[in-house]
Parts: sequence; C-alpha cells; structure tokens
Amino acid sequence: MSKGTIGVTTENIFPVIKKFLYSDHEIFLRELVSNAVDATQKLKTLQSFGEFKGELGELRVSVTVDKEAGTLTVSDRGIGMTAEDVDKYINQIAFSGAEEFLEKYKDTANSIIGHFGLGFYSAFMVAKKVEINSLSWKEGAEPVRWSCDGSPEYTMEKGDRSDRGTDIVLYIDDDSKEFLEQARIDTMLKKYCRFLPVPVISGFEQEWKDGKMTDTDRPKVINNTEPQWTRKPGELTDEDYRNFYRELYPGQDDPLFWIHLNVDYPFTLTGILFFPKIKNNIEVTKNRIQLYCNQVYVTDSVEGVVPEFMMLMQGVIDSPDIPLNVSRSYLQSDTAVKKISSYITKKVAQRLEDIFKNDRSDYEQKWDDIKIFIEYGMLTDQKFADSAMKFVLLKDSEGKYYTPEEYKLLVEAAQTDKDGDIIYLYATDPTAQYSYIKAATDRGYSVLIMDGQLDSHFVGLLESKLEKTRFVRVDSDVLDNLIRRDNKRDVELTPLQRNILTTAFRSQVPMVEKADFLVSFEALNAADMPIVITQNEYMRRMKDMAAMQPGMSFYADMPDSYNLVVNTEHPLVQQIRDSAQKAIGESVEPLAETVEKSNSEITALRDAAGNDKQPDAEAQQKINDLEKSVAEARESQEKIVSEYAAGQPLIKQLIDLALLGNGLLRGQALSDFISRSVGLLK
Ligand code: ADP
Repeated sequence: MSKGTIGVTTENIFPVIKKFLYSDHEIFLRELVSNAVDATQKLKTLQSFGEFKGELGELRVSVTVDKEAGTLTVSDRGIGMTAEDVDKYINQIAFSGAEEFLEKYKDTANSIIGHFGLGFYSAFMVAKKVEINSLSWKEGAEPVRWSCDGSPEYTMEKGDRSDRGTDIVLYIDDDSKEFLEQARIDTMLKKYCRFLPVPVISGFEQEWKDGKMTDTDRPKVINNTEPQWTRKPGELTDEDYRNFYRELYPGQDDPLFWIHLNVDYPFTLTGILFFPKIKNNIEVTKNRIQLYCNQVYVTDSVEGVVPEFMMLMQGVIDSPDIPLNVSRSYLQSDTAVKKISSYITKKVAQRLEDIFKNDRSDYEQKWDDIKIFIEYGMLTDQKFADSAMKFVLLKDSEGKYYTPEEYKLLVEAAQTDKDGDIIYLYATDPTAQYSYIKAATDRGYSVLIMDGQLDSHFVGLLESKLEKTRFVRVDSDVLDNLIRRDNKRDVELTPLQRNILTTAFRSQVPMVEKADFLVSFEALNAADMPIVITQNEYMRRMKDMAAMQPGMSFYADMPDSYNLVVNTEHPLVQQIRDSAQKAIGESVEPLAETVEKSNSEITALRDAAGNDKQPDAEAQQKINDLEKSVAEARESQEKIVSEYAAGQPLIKQLIDLALLGNGLLRGQALSDFISRSVGLLK
C-alpha cells in the first residue's frame, strides 16, 4: 500500500470545490457517468483497432444506491486503470492554481468542470470518501484500489477486482443524503444522461403488483443510446422525427417542420431543430434548445450559440467544438461560435427553401404557423432576411400566397402610381376593414392580409428590401389617393361652398372618444360612398409601433386622427351643397368676404412694416382691429352654418353612416343615430 499527496498547488482543493460548485453540485453524477461512458467507448475503439482482443461482454454503466452502506456506486466495464494510470490521471491533477481558476470562473463552474480534469473530483462535492476499484484491460494488469477521504492524502493498494472496468464508490456526506434516494438519482440521470451512447442502468423497472408499484428484477435502462440526431437523415422517417420530438417535449402538439443538422468540417456539429406549433402568442420561453457535447447534456441556455431568432425553436444541438470553458460574453465573440451560429442560420434557411420548393402546398398550409419564426428571423438577422426573401410568403385577401417576387409581377401593372412606385395595399383586420378591402378588390386591386403580431415591423422591413415599393393600409386614404394617377379629377367647389360645407360637416361630427376628425374633399366616383373615413398611414404606423414598445406611450395615448373625406361627386353631397348655398349663401358670403379682405389687409400692413420688424403703434392698432373683425366674422359664420347644419338630418345621417361603417359610432352617438333613422322612416 502506498500513500501520497494529491498533486495540486493548493493546500486542499476539496473545500474549494465544495464552496464554489455548491449550486451545481448535482453535476458530479454527470461527470462520473461520462467518465464511465468514455472508458467504455475507448475500449470499443481499442477493439476496432485490433488492440483489444478479448470479449467486450455486456458494456453498460450502472449507478447503484446502497442506502444502508451510505454509498453511491458508478460502475463500468470499460478500459479500467492500472496503478500507474490512477497515479497519472487521478493523483496529478492536470493543472495548477486551481483555486485562482475557480475563483475566476465560479459562474461558469458548471461548464468548466470536466474540461480541466476536475470532473472526477467533483465527487467530493457530495462525498466524504471516494474509492476507486479498477482493473485495466491490459494483459496481466493488477487490480488497484484507491481511496481518499477528502484531504489531499490518498491511499493506493492492490485491489481485489477480478472483472475488467472501474467502480467509483462515493461515501455520501451527511449533508448530501438526498443522493441516496433512487428517485433523486433517476431525475438527475434523466436530465444529464438521457442520450448517452452507452446504456446506463439504475434501479429496477417497476410494475403494478398487489395494489402498488413494485420493483421487478429487470434493471431499468435510463437512456436512449441512439438519439435521432446521431443517425443519418436518410435513415429516418418523418415519424421518427415526430417520435423524437415527443420524447423531448411530451404533451406538445407535433412540430411543423424540423431541420437535421449534420456537419463535420470545419467543425463538428449535429442536431435536430424543430419549429413548434405556437399557440396564440409568442411564448417567449427561451432555453428551449438543449446543448450536448458528445451526447452528454451540457446546458439549455444556448444564447450566443444559436442566432437570437431561433430562441423560438426547440431541439438539440450536439457539438464538441463549442467552448464551454469560457464565460458567456466570451462565447458570443468567439469566432468558432460565430461560424457555428452562421452555419445554423444558413442551414435553417436552406431547409426552409427546400421544403418550400418541394412541397409548396404543404408549406402554404403551415405558413400561418411558421410565419412568426420567419418574420422574427428576418427582423433580427440580416443574412437570414436576405435568404428568406425566396420563401417568405405574402397572403392576399382571398387566401392566396405569393413570394415577394411573384406578388410584384401580380400587382405591378395595376398598382403602379404616377411616380412609378408600386403600391402594396394591405389590411390588418380583414373583418373591420372589410368595406375598404371590398372597394379595392372591386376595382381590381389586390389587398394583402398583414394581421400577424410582427407585421407592423415586417412591413417596414419589406419596404426597405423591395425597390420602389410602398405599403399602404387600405383604409389610409380614399382609393384614388392610395394609388395616385395623373388623371385625378379636381374638386369643383367655389370657395364659398367649400367654406360652408367644411363647417357644416365638421360641426355635425358626434363626440367620439379618443378620435379627431378633419374634413376634406375629394372628387371620387358618383357611385362611391358619399363620405369615406380614412386614417393617415404614417400616424397609424407610429401608434402601432408605439403600442408594441414600452416607453412610447406618448404616441399610444394620442387620439386617433381620422379624415372625413366628403365625396363632392356624390348626388347627396351635391344636394347638400346646393340647398345650403340657397339657404345661407347670402348671409355667409359677406362674412367670408370680410374675413378675406381683413386678412389681406393684415398681411399688407405686416409687409409694409418689414418682415422681421415690429409694426409701429398705429399700424399695430389697425392690425388688432382687423384681427378682431376677422374673429367676429368667423364666429358669426360658424354660428349660421352650424345652426343650419343642425337642422339637416341628411348631413348627420351621412356622417353617422360613415362612422358606423368603421365601428366608430358608439354610445350616445349610436343611440341618437338610431332614433334619427327611425324618425326619417316615418
Ligand atoms: P477528464 O474526464 O476531464 O479527463 P476526470 O478528472 O474526470 O477528467 O478524469 C481524469 C482521468 O481519469 C480521465 O481522463 C481518465 O483517464 C481517468 N478516468 C476517470 N474515470 C475513469 C473510469 N471510470 N475508467 C477509466 N478511466 C477513468
């Protein structure tokens, strides 16, 4: 028997391990089982090179709890260790300055452990004593027993193991008794060892017997040694992928698509990513992609490794090339990681393009569900946005789908305005904006449905990508103005008529909460509606964006500003125009003249004084008098017109009908409208 001191510079590494790794202490099991799996894999490799000629036998790793003895044992039938091996690999810890190192990287301790030869020693996080019983595969090797109680002193002697392989026996610490519970061990194994490449057994299968679940004598296998991502895509059926998804995420709807990643140069990476079916809202649940290193679970926080937008996806990535021994911020600037991330992006784009090309109708059917991923991807990743232009789809009001290129060809001829811009009309709410959509489609225009959560941002992105293209919501102006042509008809109103009609209509708009109305005139078709309500595109977009961004409530709280567009070609409007002129034209005209005359006199006085100079006292007095007379004339004019308009149910009726068509007529205004309508029927 020999005694010795473990080769670390620090007096005692174990308190360090315990202290810094405390929060992650359950990973000791991952480390020990991974070592056992490695030893097993190495034996297989030796056999394949013809170096090991013996029987492999049943190669599995077992994890056994002995509550009475207070031990947890990890056993394998791998290559085993000779006394020299133990000395080399266990006694000489592979680096110096362990304490300093741990201090520096304590936040990422979970990932560094195992990469610096500390894996085995993590056993001391939960054990007061650890024993190794091992017999090497080498011919004539002697069994070895190593034991250490947590101080840097160990003992090593000849062991009694007769079977090739290694047992690591942990004498569990009093404050870690939970690790003597089979259920606890099962949970940990399920988390870290679920896809290890060698069968791991622990505990026994249970069955229902005499009214309770009872252990059978069949050992329970914890893992799936050949998870789908390790197999060749060609060997797998769609059902295999779905089954794997169900295994990873039980109880969820089947995924829409999946992408099998498989690359071995310039880095090694395998994995399967799934597009889950997202219910109503973006569930901003991150960490849904699990990261593995050679089938050993590492983490489910993959920020920095996969592109941001794929945080909405699910699945598994396995790569030994992702450096785990560094901090997150370093990870994001690491060139290898950047390459991996851009590879994944490229692959996702390629796969989507393939699906789109190979089975367009299936792709279209799933479009409404995957749209959010693709739009999110395009909005957050420039490269992805470029490739996605080939398979992003636009849906029109008839439910037909087009790529941006196809859509351009479709609308180019009919929807190019006088400046050569192609106008893409869109609706954000097909039900509420029905009458506008109908008016546009009746005229032979196409209307896109942009009702997704990200569409208000997405419209902006498309505008930046498509040349000479503008998106306008179908209700943002009257049809003729949405797509402006040269042959637009002029509004034929005398200044007096315009004056009277503006006040007549403005004065009769009922109070609508959080809405302002501006009266304007357009010479539309006689067959169009007499009044059309529109909402300015720019203002509306600002408000839509503001609603999605915290801290911009200033915009969101502003009243909506609408245009009440009066169609001067409509017979009813013309009738109102003529009767008003007849009834009040004579009294309004002189007032309007006064306003006009006084205003031009004011301008003349100001001009005479010089642009930037204050007029002299006499001139200023005149200006004040004139301003007063303008105000008085305006007031009387306003009074005459609104009193007149108030007595004209037709004006009110037309306004209310337009409001009604936009869902803006509510409360008292609605009830007034109803009684007025009944009155008109009498
Ligand atoms: P790492 O696994 O990162 O090298 P460890 O401290 O976990 O660091 O293990 C150190 C070395 O001890 C391993 O590289 C391996 O050579 C040896 N070893 C550990 N466990 C076993 C085992 N069960 N069978 C054979 N060798 C082992």
